[in-house]
Amino acid sequence: MGPSGAGGGLNTITAFWKALWKLSIPVKIKLFMWRACNNFLPTNLCLANRKVPVNPICPLCKCSEELTLHALRACRILKPARLLRLLVKVTWYDGISHFFDFMIVCFFHLNSMELGLLCVVLWRNWYIRNAYVHGCPIAVGLDSFE
Ligand SMILES: [Zn+2]
Repeated sequence: MGPSGAGGGLNTITAFWKALWKLSIPVKIKLFMWRACNNFLPTNLCLANRKVPVNPICPLCKCSEELTLHALRACRILKPARLLRLLVKVTWYDGISHFFDFMIVCFFHLNSMELGLLCVVLWRNWYIRNAYVHGCPIAVGLDSFE
């Protein structure tokens, strides 16, 4: 899967991955981003598309199918103030439905420190989502709901 129209030519994609691997963030978060960008995260929608018997709806807000972009960025339950402040600089992502396209747009708008922070916040959103799904009340109470 590749970007479907966020101005992501081959050079852009290569530059994006080079920039991502150079970020000062833990390797596990870089690998998480790679999985998310390639649509490999086991969201409910991905599992349902692979014939796993789950409801494709987001387990947090229960309002929308759980696309990767929804799970990590769009879900109204997971809207930490830090993420919203970061994305103030990213002004044209509303029509995008693929997570990779979203990241390419962010790559154009954010400097490497901001991009690194974005990756950490998105990783944390996935962690909180999983904690909720697996019934871990400690993690669900994190300040991500600030
Ligand atoms: Zn949701």
